Amino acid sequence: MSKRILLVEDEPGLVLTLTDRLTSEGYQVESARDGEIGLERASNEAFDGIILDVMLPRKNGFDVCRDLRQRNVTTPILMLTARGQIVDKVVGLKLGADDYLTKPFEMMELLARVEALLRRAATPAANPAISANETYQFDSIKINFRRAEVERDGGSIELSAKEFQLLRYFIEHREATLTRDELLNEVWGYDAMPTTRTVDVHVAWLRQKLEPNPRHPIYILTIHGMGYKFVG
Ligand code: CA
Repeated sequence: MSKRILLVEDEPGLVLTLTDRLTSEGYQVESARDGEIGLERASNEAFDGIILDVMLPRKNGFDVCRDLRQRNVTTPILMLTARGQIVDKVVGLKLGADDYLTKPFEMMELLARVEALLRRAATPAANPAISANETYQFDSIKINFRRAEVERDGGSIELSAKEFQLLRYFIEHREATLTRDELLNEVWGYDAMPTTRTVDVHVAWLRQKLEPNPRHPIYILTIHGMGYKFVG
């Protein structure tokens, strides 16, 4: 069955080109020409992936991304950002996008990114640490993987999609020392992010949300010269 992609983009020429090319690659492509329509369609219909432009009429791509994650829509998102807007990448990551591509881009690069995005989403890792009903608990923190929810003492903790994937990888590899390169490869999937700094930023965000004292972590430990180890 062909994968269904939602393309949220207002530039008619780009919509046409991308739709043609993705369709010829075997994808089923639907498009939305502004952020409001994109948000509604992505919330109410099943898509395998979303290509989301940042600069959109009515509602920008960041707001669409944030609202989707708040609605617990976990569809993988590839954001299209303008050239050189590094700040955009950081903001987008924090809001739960999975990957970025800077405009203008090569069509081959976009196709490779889309393929990787959908492949990652389709292959959940084997996870012996996670019980059959898809939950994991440490101390007062309880994680429901199926529902993508995290609770502490019954109160909910908001995680971005990427923070959630990173936490899941840590739990699946509990007590193992994981290098930044491994985390980058396994959680981000391939060399999309040029720097392992991305990993450090996400670990810091996870610590802020999960650790009793983020300055002195007891769950996600730094192993100097090596990487990180989850011991929750
Ligand atoms: Ca645009």
